[in-house]
Amino acid sequence: MKHTTDLSFRESVEVMFNRAVSLMDLPAGLEEKIRVCNATYTVRFGVRLRGEIHTFTGYRSVHSEHMEPVKGGIRYALSVNQDEVEALAALMTFKCALVETPFGGSKGGLCIDPKEWDEEELEQITRRFAYELIKRDLISPSQNVPAPDMGTGEREMAWIADQYQRMNTTDINAKACVTGKPINAGGISGRVEATGRGIQYALREFFRHPEDVNLAKLSGSLDRKNIVIQGFGNVGYHAAKFLSQEDNCKIIAVIERDGAVINQDGLDIEALYAHMSKTGSIKKFSGGTFQTNGSSVLEMKCDILIPAAIEGSINLLNAERINAPLIIEAANGPVTAGADDVLRNRGTVIIPDMYANAGGVTVSYFEWVKNLSHIRFGRMQRRQEEARHHLLVEELNRVMEASGLGTKLSDKFKEAYLRGAGELELVRSGLDDSMRTAYQHMRELWHSRKDVDDLRTAAYLVAIERVAESYRTKGL
Ligand code: NAD
Repeated sequence: MKHTTDLSFRESVEVMFNRAVSLMDLPAGLEEKIRVCNATYTVRFGVRLRGEIHTFTGYRSVHSEHMEPVKGGIRYALSVNQDEVEALAALMTFKCALVETPFGGSKGGLCIDPKEWDEEELEQITRRFAYELIKRDLISPSQNVPAPDMGTGEREMAWIADQYQRMNTTDINAKACVTGKPINAGGISGRVEATGRGIQYALREFFRHPEDVNLAKLSGSLDRKNIVIQGFGNVGYHAAKFLSQEDNCKIIAVIERDGAVINQDGLDIEALYAHMSKTGSIKKFSGGTFQTNGSSVLEMKCDILIPAAIEGSINLLNAERINAPLIIEAANGPVTAGADDVLRNRGTVIIPDMYANAGGVTVSYFEWVKNLSHIRFGRMQRRQEEARHHLLVEELNRVMEASGLGTKLSDKFKEAYLRGAGELELVRSGLDDSMRTAYQHMRELWHSRKDVDDLRTAAYLVAIERVAESYRTKGL
């Protein structure tokens, strides 16, 4: 079906879900069970601030409990509403299934502009919101584990974890009630960067498959590819940083709320980040040209477009004019169902949100496991691994000397080889493996089934089949 008007985020998710299930052979009852959102809790609570009581509205939605705990971020934004939270919760169900993290799907949100409140006030609001959710087991290490999303970060997660600990003083696993915490509060190395890192690993995997690269009318590797990024927050900044510093990509434009900054030679991402941290805006950045109409920059000619801000930024109003042959959805739902139709017909390849931004939940999974096992990854084996490598290097050097080769292993090789993997290396390795494996599962369907002509449908098919299998095993 062709969509002539733009659908809401939730309707878009519904349409994409329907397209996938129409290609499956699920019993109607099971299909409906997977489609519906199990429950959404709405809470209105008051906090006394600045001499008066302010009432806030928040949500926690649980889409599917085929696996528990359920997992999903908490968003702070004025635009938060029940429909949006439910759509995001559904995406979490499918995302977790696709990257094989053993969770059901959930999401939370609070209608608030975090910029309107100072840190102390935000702490009071967050603790009160958390209190309401904890009371109802909507935050709990075994049942529902939130994480950061738009407008929230490590700081809010630390407040939530502390609130849970105060209310559950004898729970030895209390720290696992939320992920995305600072390291000193039970977090894990590499969580802050994880979603942006996942974008990098997803693109690297995509470019390992020349057949897929050709379908996007591109060639070669990531090297010197021109990239436009919308949203320079946690996800957008980290993706830009890693792709420019480690894969030699050129970030030719960054689009923010108040406009865009462009530099065809490639922006200096660290300098732009420092400027934005200092001034709160990308305006007046000396390393590029500023353009007030930010959203028109989405239409700029580039190799890869990375929407990393909000849902619906690529819609029926601009889809025809999008120039990028490859879009990777770092944000959740940045392409509406109508725009998706237009872009698919034009042959644009879209790496879908459900897969592309799954780095966050994947590393959250590692953090949750770390909290439950009460030990940092690598602590037991790192030095032992180094000692074994040392033995091998020494022996190789001895053999080479004894056989008169006269050469020794280089210091550079020795340094790289001898270093045992610490937590950060292990987290990155686990994330890389998850992103590669999930991409391969999607592309297998994309190429093997004639009725699957895009990665999004393939992603839904893999995910829905896994959720269905889980319900079947449970005997539902
Ligand atoms: P964030 O709040 O750190 O950053 C969002 C950025 O987008 C901000 O800099 C904001 O100014 C900018 N922005 C907002 N509206 C904009 C607009 N209309 N045009 C241009 N820029 C705009 O949020 P984030 O954590 O980076 O999340 C971004 C997206 O990624 C969201 O869709 C979120 O659901 C998704 N996501 C985040 C994570 C995570 O781990 N943080 C994980 C998965 C998905």
